[in-house]
Amino acid sequence: MSVPQEMSFRESVDMMFNRAVALMDLPPGLEEKIRVCNATYTVRFGVRLRGQIQTFTGYRSVHSEHMEPVKGGIRFSLGVNQDEVEALAALMTYKCSLVEAPFGGSKGGLCIDPRLYDEHELELITRRFAYELIKRDLINPSQNVPAPDMGTGEREMAWIADQYARMNTTDINARACVTGKPLNAGGIAGRVEATGRGVQYALREFFRDEQGMQKAGLTGGLKGKRVVVQGLGNVGYHATKFLMEEDGCIITGIIEHDGALVDASGLDVDAVQKWIAKHGGISGYPDANIIEDGAMVLEEDCDILIPAALEGVINVSNADRIKAPLIIEAANGPVTAGGDEILRNKGTVIIPDMYANAGGVTVSYFEWVKNLSHIRFGRMQRRQEESRHQLVVDELERLSADSGVGWQLSPNFKERYLRGADELELVRSGLDDTMRIAYQSMREVWHGRDDVHDLRTAAYLVSIEKVAASYRAKGL
Ligand code: NAD
Repeated sequence: MSVPQEMSFRESVDMMFNRAVALMDLPPGLEEKIRVCNATYTVRFGVRLRGQIQTFTGYRSVHSEHMEPVKGGIRFSLGVNQDEVEALAALMTYKCSLVEAPFGGSKGGLCIDPRLYDEHELELITRRFAYELIKRDLINPSQNVPAPDMGTGEREMAWIADQYARMNTTDINARACVTGKPLNAGGIAGRVEATGRGVQYALREFFRDEQGMQKAGLTGGLKGKRVVVQGLGNVGYHATKFLMEEDGCIITGIIEHDGALVDASGLDVDAVQKWIAKHGGISGYPDANIIEDGAMVLEEDCDILIPAALEGVINVSNADRIKAPLIIEAANGPVTAGGDEILRNKGTVIIPDMYANAGGVTVSYFEWVKNLSHIRFGRMQRRQEESRHQLVVDELERLSADSGVGWQLSPNFKERYLRGADELELVRSGLDDTMRIAYQSMREVWHGRDDVHDLRTAAYLVSIEKVAASYRAKGL
């Protein structure tokens, strides 16, 4: 058997796309229209810092405008380049389509190591980058709506929103120009942890799929499953925290940029995260074995491997040594096309990025809707819901007393039943529903078609079919 060759991130995404469309019957030309990236804008701008002008390079790529606005995060990292941004924008198109978020795909990036700048400097740089994109409508509530990604978070999104508002003083929907904002600046409850929460919901749904479990050779539930995570940032931290605290998983390995921690009896994710926040890495962490060559820990024996840091970390050079029977791609593109082929041949089940990390864009969609409707979710119906529940409880208690049966509703039940849903509960419910439905649509194709052998191909088939239908409806 020939050894698969490695390719760039964008070529990898294109190859996976091509593998899926070969199984479809798309009209000539439409396939190409969906695959290509519509436009990529490159900007170079200067910011005066520490007494001299420093020049930065940034990108915003729009992959598909079959639905507008287009949506996708902004990444701050030294690895940012045009190929990467275009690959990530394409993934956004397929991701939004798969989870039925009504957006086209986009992505942005700034070539910068944010750790080298203080907060004030980062604000100057972010605002200047945002200014360049806003004046070209590459940030706009109805055309292009960014969100956080690697190296950015709530703080940067708040600066971007404020910059847009300053430049568009009469736009009543200004806050909808970006998502992932802090709650007090137009954000939504549950957005910060949404991608990690989505990874948890995805795994729960996978563990309800008996055929899928069989294909991975796994049995039982999530409880007691050994998990290795790469990257304890926003996504990796929240995913492992929820899996540990709520599903009983054991986190046996944490890989970070400066090495890895391993402990077969389980690592305390919160303690490790606090250590990293204070010391900048895992080095010196006292309560676990430290492995200097962190990437080696990807090859550790475990049940679930969660790459949640960078792209391309599982590739032709290490895929055959990966022991985990199940990989969930919390990061974008962590498995290269070459790595994917080796793993597929080995029978490893991969829950693909376009589904696994779609929790972020799903809750971003809710935030965008909230901003456009100018009202917090649950504000109108919460108390009304509570008073209707109170009616039922009063009636049950009256019936019980009148009939002399003497039933008592347990206080715990009463308290839980009476409480109307607040925004956080509604967001979680919407996210859970989205992750379940998207998984079921992939599962149907994965188990139902003889020519589909993996979840990634199934995900592409489901999502490309929807994008194609949208183009057809537009008359293209
Ligand atoms: P983040 O910046 O919060 O965290 C990334 C983590 O990876 C950091 O802790 C960093 O130290 C670590 N890291 C960096 N280089 C590493 C290396 N060589 N080995 C191990 N760890 C390393 O980023 P994030 O927002 O958690 O994003 C992580 C991935 O998830 C990215 O691929 C991103 O595109 C994807 N993603 C993020 C979101 C979101 O809502 N934030 C949504 C969808 C997808």
